[in-house]
Amino acid sequence: MLNIVLFGPPGAGKGTQSERLKENYGLVHISTGDVFRALDPESELGKLAKSYSDKGNLVPDEVTIEILEAEVSKHPNAKGVIYDGFPRTTAQAEALDKFLSAKGTSVSMMLSLVVPEEELKSRLIARAEVSGRKDDADPEIIQNRINTYNNSTAPVADFYKAQGKLHEIDGVGSIDTITQRLFDVIDAQ
Ligand code: AMP
Repeated sequence: MLNIVLFGPPGAGKGTQSERLKENYGLVHISTGDVFRALDPESELGKLAKSYSDKGNLVPDEVTIEILEAEVSKHPNAKGVIYDGFPRTTAQAEALDKFLSAKGTSVSMMLSLVVPEEELKSRLIARAEVSGRKDDADPEIIQNRINTYNNSTAPVADFYKAQGKLHEIDGVGSIDTITQRLFDVIDAQ
């Protein structure tokens, strides 16, 4: 199974590139952010997720891990999965290793998109026009998401680096150029 963790700060292009990888390699794309946004906003779980995501804070690990595992379990015959926006903490990375190991598989690689902070901010503000996402529109929330990434999420790269699975990819350039960089790394494995 090809299990790709597509990693990077908010606005790095994970969603856009996930669609390209999904098409090219026939993978299932799982974005925990998309799953949270698709929850019924009136349900208990929907309200809980929104209370964190609207502020740019992480949804607690316990809830997120459960949601991710349920989502993966919907695709028992997948030839591979792109994990987009998960894991975002070391505890989530450990839980994913355990979960996949119980299925006789493992994370194949982490592809980490590297984009400077100023570029992230301008991309997110531009995206707010089309995404309608509250967390894309407000500079304070954007800053909080970037800080959360730097403090809680960036260490996840070290987790995979220690396993020899980290690949850093320059995330600046045209969408097609970045897609090609990702394909090159995957095809070289
Ligand atoms: P995203 O669409 O990946 O930018 O995620 C939007 C929001 O959903 C984040 O700011 C978090 O509040 C929440 N979220 C998504 N994925 C995770 C995760 N793996 N762990 C915790 N919170 C998450």
